[in-house]
Amino acid sequence: MTIRSADAVVIGAGVIGCSVALELARGGQRVVVVDRGPAAGAGSTSASAAIIRYSYSTPDAILTAWEAAAMWRDWAGHLGGVDPDGMATFVDCPNLTFRTTGYEPDAMLAHWREFGIDYEELDAADLARRFPALDIGRYFPPKPIDDPAFADDPAGELSAILSPDCGFVDDPMLAARNLAWAARQHGAEFAFRAEVVAIERDEAVRGVTLADGTSIAAPVVVNVGGPHSSLLNRLAGVTDDMTIGHRPLRQEVFVVPAPAGTGLDEGGAFVADLDLGQYFRPQPGGSMMIGSTEPECDELVWVDDPDENSPYPTVDVWETAMLRFARRVPEFRVPNAPTGLASLYDVADDWVPIYDRSTLPGYFMACATSGNQFKNAPIAGAFMRAIIDAVSAGHDHDAEPVRFVGPRTGREIDLGAFSRRRSRAVTTNSVLG
Ligand SMILES: Cc1cc2nc3c(=O)[nH]c(=O)nc-3n(C[C@H](O)[C@H](O)[C@H](O)COP(=O)(O)OP(=O)(O)OC[C@H]3O[C@@H](n4cnc5c(N)ncnc54)[C@H](O)[C@@H]3O)c2cc1C
Repeated sequence: MTIRSADAVVIGAGVIGCSVALELARGGQRVVVVDRGPAAGAGSTSASAAIIRYSYSTPDAILTAWEAAAMWRDWAGHLGGVDPDGMATFVDCPNLTFRTTGYEPDAMLAHWREFGIDYEELDAADLARRFPALDIGRYFPPKPIDDPAFADDPAGELSAILSPDCGFVDDPMLAARNLAWAARQHGAEFAFRAEVVAIERDEAVRGVTLADGTSIAAPVVVNVGGPHSSLLNRLAGVTDDMTIGHRPLRQEVFVVPAPAGTGLDEGGAFVADLDLGQYFRPQPGGSMMIGSTEPECDELVWVDDPDENSPYPTVDVWETAMLRFARRVPEFRVPNAPTGLASLYDVADDWVPIYDRSTLPGYFMACATSGNQFKNAPIAGAFMRAIIDAVSAGHDHDAEPVRFVGPRTGREIDLGAFSRRRSRAVTTNSVLG
C-alpha cells in the first residue's frame, strides 16, 4: 500500500461505498477507497436481492427510492459511460403487496399519487384472475411452522396493491463494480485486502491506519462498512450522540425453481407477503428467490461479531421458508436440498438508514442500511457528497439539515430524515422500512 494521503478516505467498496467514491471524485476530491475484502461489492452487496420498489413508510424514503430508480433505469447515463467489463441491468418486475392486518399503506399511497408513482388496487377477484398461481387466503398473523394453527384454513381473502414500475438489478456485485469503474474515471483509487484497524483523530479526524501499519492521512473519512460499520463507529468514538443504534442481523435467502405461473416471463411479480412473513421474487432463468420479512413470531438472529457469521443456510430457516412459500403457491414442490445463502443486514433501530456527519469533525457515515438500501445506492452517494460539501463549508447540518433536490421530480428530500440523531421514524419495523 503506497497511498499516504487523500482528500477523502471511503471505508468500504460495497455498492454504497463505491457510489460515495464516485460522487466525491466527481466533485474533484482525491478519493481513496479501502476495503478489507477482495473486490468491489464482495460484502453484503453480493447477497442482495437488489429489489427496487417504492413502498416505504415515510415521504423522504419514498421519494429517495423513486429518484434512485431513474438512475438505475439510465445506468450508463448515471455512470457517465459504459463499463467495458459489463453493465448491471434493471429488470422490470411489478411489486405486489398484500393488504393485511397491521399494514396500513393509505398514507404511503397518498404520497405515491403526489409524486406520480403509478399503482393499481386489486381486490380478491382481480388477484385470483391476474395471479392464479397464488393462494390469496388471509392467514395473518404469521406463525412458526410447528404451531398447529399454521395449518388453519384462511380467514377470508386478501386484496393487494400492484406497483408496476418496480424491478430488480440482475447482478448487484457488478453494479458495485460499475460504480467503482466510474469512480476510477474521475481519479478515485481502490485498495483491496486493506483493513482499517484505527481511525486517526485528535479534535478532528486525521485519517485511517490499516492492518499492515500504513497510515492514510485525510481530512474526511466516510464509514461505509456495511455490517462492520457499527464496529467502525465505535473505533472512531462517535457513538455518544447517536440516538439511533444499528447492528448486524443474520439473513437467509433461498433460491428454488419458480413454480408454474410465477416466473418472470409468465407475468410473475415480486410479492411482499407480510400476511405470511415472507417476500419472493422471480429471477431470470426460471428460479425464485425467497426471503423473510421478520415477522414477530420469528426470533431475530442478531450478530455481535460479523466475522463469525456462517455463510451457510440452516435447515430450520429453510423449512420455514419453504412451507410458508408452499402455503402461498400451492403448486410448489419443496426441493430435496437447500440452495441459498446467509448474509447480514446492518439494521437501524427503526430500519431507516443513517446518511450523516458525526460528532467528530471530518468523520461521516453511510450505514445502517437495514436490508433495503441497495436500491438507493446511486442517490446515497449524492446525498453524502451534499452533506460532506455543506459541512466542510461550515454548515450546521444537525441544526439545519441539508435539503437535496431530486433530479427526477425537482422535489426536495430532507436529509435530516436520515440523521443519526433523529427521533425513531415510524416504519413497518421490518426490511420494508
Ligand atoms: C440477503 C440480502 C438481501 C437484500 N435485498 C435487498 C433488496 O432486495 N433491495 C434493497 O434495496 N436492498 C437489499 N439489501 C440491502 C443492500 O444489499 C445493502 O443495503 C447494501 O448492499 C449495503 O451496501 P454497503 O456498500 O453499505 O455495504 P457492503 O456491501 O456490506 O460493503 C461494506 C464493505 O466494507 C468493507 N469493510 C468493512 N469493515 C472494513 C474495515 N474495517 N476496513 C476496510 N473495509 C471494511 C467490507 O469488506 C465490505 O466490502 C439486501 C441485503 C441482504 C444481505
